[in-house]
Amino acid sequence: MYPRYDVLIVGSGASGLFTALHLRPDCRVLLLSKQDFTLSNSSLAQGGVASVFDEVHDKEEFHVNDTMIAGGFRNRPAAVNQLVHKGPDNVRELFSYDVDFDRNEDGSIHLTLEGGHCRPRILHHRDSTGAEIVKKLLAAVQKLPNVTMVPFAHLCDLKQTAGGFSADILKDGAHRYVTARYCVLATGGIGRVYEYTTNSAIATGDGIALAYRMGATIRHLHYVQFHPTAFANKDTRECFLISESVRGEGAYLLNGNGERFMHKYDDRLELAPRDVVSQSIMREEAFTGSHNFYLDITHKDPDFVRQRFPMIYQNLLTQGIDMTRDRIPVYPCQHYLMGGIDVDLKARTSIDRLYAVGECSHTGVHGANRLASNSLLEALVFSHEAADDINARLPADTAWPEDQPFPVHDAKEEIPTGIRTEIRAIMQQSDFVIPRVDIAKGSIGRVQSLKELLDTHPYKVTPAYVEARSLATIAYLILKEVIQM
Ligand SMILES: Cc1cc2nc3c(=O)[nH]c(=O)nc-3n(C[C@H](O)[C@H](O)[C@H](O)COP(=O)(O)OP(=O)(O)OC[C@H]3O[C@@H](n4cnc5c(N)ncnc54)[C@H](O)[C@@H]3O)c2cc1C
Repeated sequence: MYPRYDVLIVGSGASGLFTALHLRPDCRVLLLSKQDFTLSNSSLAQGGVASVFDEVHDKEEFHVNDTMIAGGFRNRPAAVNQLVHKGPDNVRELFSYDVDFDRNEDGSIHLTLEGGHCRPRILHHRDSTGAEIVKKLLAAVQKLPNVTMVPFAHLCDLKQTAGGFSADILKDGAHRYVTARYCVLATGGIGRVYEYTTNSAIATGDGIALAYRMGATIRHLHYVQFHPTAFANKDTRECFLISESVRGEGAYLLNGNGERFMHKYDDRLELAPRDVVSQSIMREEAFTGSHNFYLDITHKDPDFVRQRFPMIYQNLLTQGIDMTRDRIPVYPCQHYLMGGIDVDLKARTSIDRLYAVGECSHTGVHGANRLASNSLLEALVFSHEAADDINARLPADTAWPEDQPFPVHDAKEEIPTGIRTEIRAIMQQSDFVIPRVDIAKGSIGRVQSLKELLDTHPYKVTPAYVEARSLATIAYLILKEVIQM
């Protein structure tokens, strides 16, 4: 008999941790992370979390409106309303876990402005908000006696059974199997399917690929956000982000000739939503013939810049750039997935008892383009909903689900090298900022055959194999949507 849990949570980012914190204390939870608990996109979040806190100058309807405008009105209105309405209470809960948000001199929360927001409404911990949230939530979950946390444990297969799931988990080179009544996928984004991304190494779309294999509805995988201002250093695939809030605090975006150019493309200038700024950069590149772009905040008080952006400042110094005196070279880069495993307002997928939260889910709040700092908020609000829904269903569960057998893992052949590199190159050419339908049409066949090879050939099941299989599935699903545009 496999070990039995009420709930299996896959992921230790903001969404996985917040789910665990809201499950009933009498519920037996297993929480997995395929790497160290803190290696996640959540830990990398810089700018902050958006929420209507200033009730004098801000309103829920303003936040709703900004979210819909950024999303090109392709958002689900009910999901946006839930996000904005339930957001402040969920964010306030972070205070109870000791999350340290920056404050004004009078002790009130400091709210900053980011692109696409009509009011300052971003709560932040200097410029490393995600790391602060993960640290505090992780400490809180580690105190819960009902939650077993296992790092470096890679979910490689999931099977539905009457009343739950059986899971195949790779840990220290061995397969372990568990059964759970409910499974919450909190596996994060897909950035590693592109050559250049701000995402951490875990962002290979494993949860989405597993859900797809189980037949769950996946929606809008080609809604990929490209951040306009990643640090332009083509020597590294994980691009360091120069947060939106640097423009929020007044930085100018310059072309290769050192000129501001956003006025040619959008009245909101540097504070237009991300997709608009990224596309403007590509159009300006075509216009000037130069792919050099810069952020310039040298006109601001150097002490303010150092204090407001200590992490970015230090990081750039190691690259030989002093942002108080030098322009910062920037270029667009893959950043976020708006689509994913389709869920309802309670984060329920189309498969009974399977939930998806955070970046791997498609709640519909972001439409075709996410408004800055809305994703941490989405992770909190919808994880809380998922946990509440599971809590309400648990008392009706009496019998345990039956264990499902998994194939014997005796294959010795490692996956060939170069598959991930090839997929990334195809995606970079087919779908970077402005999708290239012609190139996508020419390359989808190759991606499909790589996917089929990884799905059917008996390779040794290793983390590298599972991730390559996920990336091939994600690339295939994105291109399938791109060629229909
Ligand atoms: C550089 C950067 C800056 C950002 N800044 C902001 C910001 O300022 N504000 C904002 O709102 N959003 C921001 N975002 C986006 C936001 O951080 C993420 O969308 C959000 O934190 C995702 O949280 P998550 O819990 O869904 O996933 P993650 O935090 O990425 O966690 C995913 C977890 O799943 C685990 N996992 C994955 N696959 C498996 C598997 N097969 N088996 C076991 N475990 C698995 C991983 O190990 C990890 O623990 C930023 C993102 C980046 C990359």
